[in-house]
Amino acid sequence: MLETLLLNFLFLLLPILFFVIFENSVKFVNKPLMAIILALSMILCMSYPIHLESGFIFDLRYIPFIFVSLYGGYKYGFLLLIVLNIYRFVIGGEGFVESLLFSICIWILLSMSKVEFFQSKARNRIAYAVFMAFITMLLYLSILSMMIDINREFWTLAVNALLTHVIMTMIITSLIEKIYANTKAREAVVQSERLQLISELAASVAHEIRNPLTVTNGFLQLLSQSDIAPTQKSYVDYSLLELNRAESIINDFLAFSKPQCEHTENTDLKVETEYAKNILLPYANMHKVDIKLSFHNSLRKELDTNQLQQCLINLYKNGIEAMKDNGGVLSIDVSSQRNSIILKIKDTGTGMNQDEMSLLGKPYYSTKKEGTGLGMLMVYSTINKLNGKIEVESKKGIGTTFTITIPV
Ligand code: ADP
Ligand code: MG
Repeated sequence: MLETLLLNFLFLLLPILFFVIFENSVKFVNKPLMAIILALSMILCMSYPIHLESGFIFDLRYIPFIFVSLYGGYKYGFLLLIVLNIYRFVIGGEGFVESLLFSICIWILLSMSKVEFFQSKARNRIAYAVFMAFITMLLYLSILSMMIDINREFWTLAVNALLTHVIMTMIITSLIEKIYANTKAREAVVQSERLQLISELAASVAHEIRNPLTVTNGFLQLLSQSDIAPTQKSYVDYSLLELNRAESIINDFLAFSKPQCEHTENTDLKVETEYAKNILLPYANMHKVDIKLSFHNSLRKELDTNQLQQCLINLYKNGIEAMKDNGGVLSIDVSSQRNSIILKIKDTGTGMNQDEMSLLGKPYYSTKKEGTGLGMLMVYSTINKLNGKIEVESKKGIGTTFTITIPV
């Protein structure tokens, strides 16, 4: 029995091994591939069931099934449901219909909890997966107990099956979560190094470029006011326009290359959130966007208020720009939770898909004609310096919510 148990453990470890070798980014997990590998692992588990001395056999097919349904969602869970039942049919034997009905019930049970599952902490996710494995086995055993005599052999099966499922699920989910946390930490380091590099470069270059630009701008303006032919005037105007664009990029650059603690103030963010709102009110009105601000925060934090205002302006502006076609509501909410200030900025605009969200904060990533792709970079760098974190939730066509947590 121990040998098959270890063999099954290996089958379940196989997908994790694949994951570690072939995935290097949390955001681009290849779900279909993972589902196929886990389906393979499930088939292997079913092919090598565990034989107890009492004559009973059981296998670990539901462990990969639980992983896929919880981590991958009900669609991929459905794929495994099909594979499970086809393979069960191929193996043959009594109880196919019961197995089919049972697996459907488990699939429904698992599919109901996806959203909460991802919103909870890693520890809760592990606990939840273990709980689901336990419940699945419990249900299975209860059904079995109605069909056969309850004797000593049954109880050995029950104890063995429950213990194996719980322990295996615990080990495998802990591994998954650990790998996930490591990958995330590595990405955070890369991102912060990137910011560091850019802000150093920005500080040295941007300042030098701004002066000649200002001078050129002045002369071009003089030229455009003087007597020149209309075509020439249009050239000058274009040049001015492009120059302004270059200036705005440089200003964005300078904004986040400024060192922290230039003029820090102890603030509860009321002034800053309102200031940014007032600045953008005309812009919002122009695009038929309502701004709603609600404030219930009692915590204070020492920070560079100018930089934070700039950061808020960037976020509000993006929200408004996402709603510029159809109008909408930009809701800003400042609250506190234990030792952190929570800033929620929600829009009802275009939204983003998973890939677009993962590009947020990369320098020059912009989907706008006039965009610089530096706004979010500045936001990430400012919040990073405050040891805060930014969570993004977005749905295409529905809207986006930025949740910023700043520890005090
Ligand atoms: P820019 O606004 O100049 O394009 P940002 O760094 O501010 O640069 O934003 C980068 C990109 O992220 C935007 O072009 C847009 O595609 C996307 N984005 C940012 N915020 C939102 C939002 N609230 N809703 C939809 N897309 C957004
Ligand atoms: Mg922007």
